[in-house]
Amino acid sequence: MNITKNKGMKLLAVFAHPDDESFICGGTLAKYASEGVEITLVSATRGDMGRRMGNPPYLNRETMAAARELELREACEHLGVKRLIFFDIRDKTVEFVEEESLIARIAALIEEVQPDVVLTFHEVLGGHPDHCAIGKATTAAFQRTGRQGALYFISFGDAMTRPERFGFAPQDIVRIDVQAHLKAKLAAFRAHRCQTEIDEWVWLPDREALAKLGRYEYFMKWDRGATARSNDDLF
Ligand SMILES: [Zn+2]
Repeated sequence: MNITKNKGMKLLAVFAHPDDESFICGGTLAKYASEGVEITLVSATRGDMGRRMGNPPYLNRETMAAARELELREACEHLGVKRLIFFDIRDKTVEFVEEESLIARIAALIEEVQPDVVLTFHEVLGGHPDHCAIGKATTAAFQRTGRQGALYFISFGDAMTRPERFGFAPQDIVRIDVQAHLKAKLAAFRAHRCQTEIDEWVWLPDREALAKLGRYEYFMKWDRGATARSNDDLF
């Protein structure tokens, strides 16, 4: 593949919490960053209501937001994400934010960044109320701006190896090979120290830990059935 193909392209990822970017699609972000794609990441919250406090615990409710921000900044360095934006919404409350103002905020960001690719959560399959809420607002914002770029929904693990279970067809799925970028993904996992310290596998020797990470990350196309785009590349 021509690795300069995507140079200068822009990707906007709009997620809910510090760690969504690394745990769910860190390999894909690292891959495109390495190809010269300019990535802007939104974390709607600072993850301040997280229940993991480190192992042994070293955080409390007051110190958590600042710690998780620092961890996310470090993860972004490992992934090659250059621009990080917090919306400063309280963790676990995204669904209660006035929707119109959230949509307008994301739409303004889309107009500013002019992304070729937008990533967010599916509004039903997001798996957490904050995920679903930010995904719904981002989808509405994308529609409103009428941008030419492509919107994709991120998915968990290898759930989308059987997309029909979720109402998608095989041609609606993009599968990204992230094998060459798993080291960056693992480093990003480890940067989210308070979240991963109780996960023993993350701290195994590199070779063993890397073997726990899947080779592929999967995305659902917002414009279902789009045949113009390939099934192994987001751009
Ligand atoms: Zn999350």
